[in-house]
Amino acid sequence: NRKSRRVLVTGGAGFIGANFVHYWSRRYPGDRLVVLDALTYAGNPHNLASLEGNQNYRFVQGNICDRPLVENLLKEEAIDTIAHFAAESHVDRSILGPAAFIQTNVVGSFTLLEAFRNHWQTLPVPNLGERGPIFLHVSTDEVYGSLGPEDPGFTEQTPYSPNSPYSASKAGSDHLARAYYHTYGVPTLITNCSNNYGPYHFPEKLIPLMCINMLLGKPLPVYGDGQNIRDWLYVEDHCRGLDVVIHQGTPGETYNIGGNNEVKNIDLVKMLCQLMDELAPDLPVRPCETLMTFVKDRPGHDRRYAIDATKIKTQLGWTPTVTVEEGLRETVQWYLTHQEWWRPLLSAEYQDYYRQVYAN
Ligand code: NAD
Repeated sequence: NRKSRRVLVTGGAGFIGANFVHYWSRRYPGDRLVVLDALTYAGNPHNLASLEGNQNYRFVQGNICDRPLVENLLKEEAIDTIAHFAAESHVDRSILGPAAFIQTNVVGSFTLLEAFRNHWQTLPVPNLGERGPIFLHVSTDEVYGSLGPEDPGFTEQTPYSPNSPYSASKAGSDHLARAYYHTYGVPTLITNCSNNYGPYHFPEKLIPLMCINMLLGKPLPVYGDGQNIRDWLYVEDHCRGLDVVIHQGTPGETYNIGGNNEVKNIDLVKMLCQLMDELAPDLPVRPCETLMTFVKDRPGHDRRYAIDATKIKTQLGWTPTVTVEEGLRETVQWYLTHQEWWRPLLSAEYQDYYRQVYAN
């Protein structure tokens, strides 16, 4: 007897947002889903093409910084849930040009919070036991900074210590989401998640980059000594985590989400190479490991991230279900069979970006 929700998904044409929209429409087909996305280089309408024609789904191309647009949409659609994914999300791009990160991640999040602050109380008061309006701010573990080799994983109490313009901008928006609960009583929730991977991941990110370069027979650039550690989570497990937080999280609280899957970058690339050698019938160069090349490290490159997800596990009963081995196999297979998805994304702009980042 769950009451259907009316959900605004910002950034729904991006990687996690699109996975979330597919997940949500399968799980809650009676819910209204409105996607607001500016379709930047990272937003791709093809990610949502299969939803066209669904009466409960609407796509709006627009910017989260556009206050009148956001206000009208909240009102017109009587939105009771915001799942806020829209962001500039790539650390390397934030080093090349931080301004867009401040604009979208800080000013854009502020704009949404302001609009929701005025909107949520105009909605009908929920019946006893019914879940009220929710603003979910989707964030990253990168706000906590970098861990030493022996440090315990990040908890919700770990002090913020962002090291890149990207993570600093996400930290700023996390603080705003928190403050809107404490100052105005807006029912905000924050999730800080570790590195995601899976289908629809834009080619610039580590896992798709490696898969695509293997399929093209191009060098596999590994930053520094390859010893940086990331805690990987299959995107569908992240979406399930966001689902439990939206439905059961306590407003004003933060929940860390992570797969307890720490892997060194170098080992991750080797795993991908082995999978690709096994799964791809006609690779230009094989074995793929011969394509690995070490390149100059990213400035301010965090050494290690690891999430302690005890809170969401014990309080909300979430656990990841996909192992890294299973998830990576699925992902490699997806890039292998969806070349028509990623080939058009390797545009002149992308090549230009690529040359700047991997110039050395
Ligand atoms: P992405 O770059 O793939 O997608 C971002 C989407 O936001 C794109 O569709 C883009 O068009 C849209 N967008 C950008 N600026 C906009 C604006 N001003 N107005 C409206 N839409 C705009 O990003 P992602 O990897 O899917 O990440 C989604 C969210 O999850 C981000 O907030 C990110 O910080 C967070 N996150 C990502 C990861 C990860 O591993 N990818 C991990 C934890 C948290």
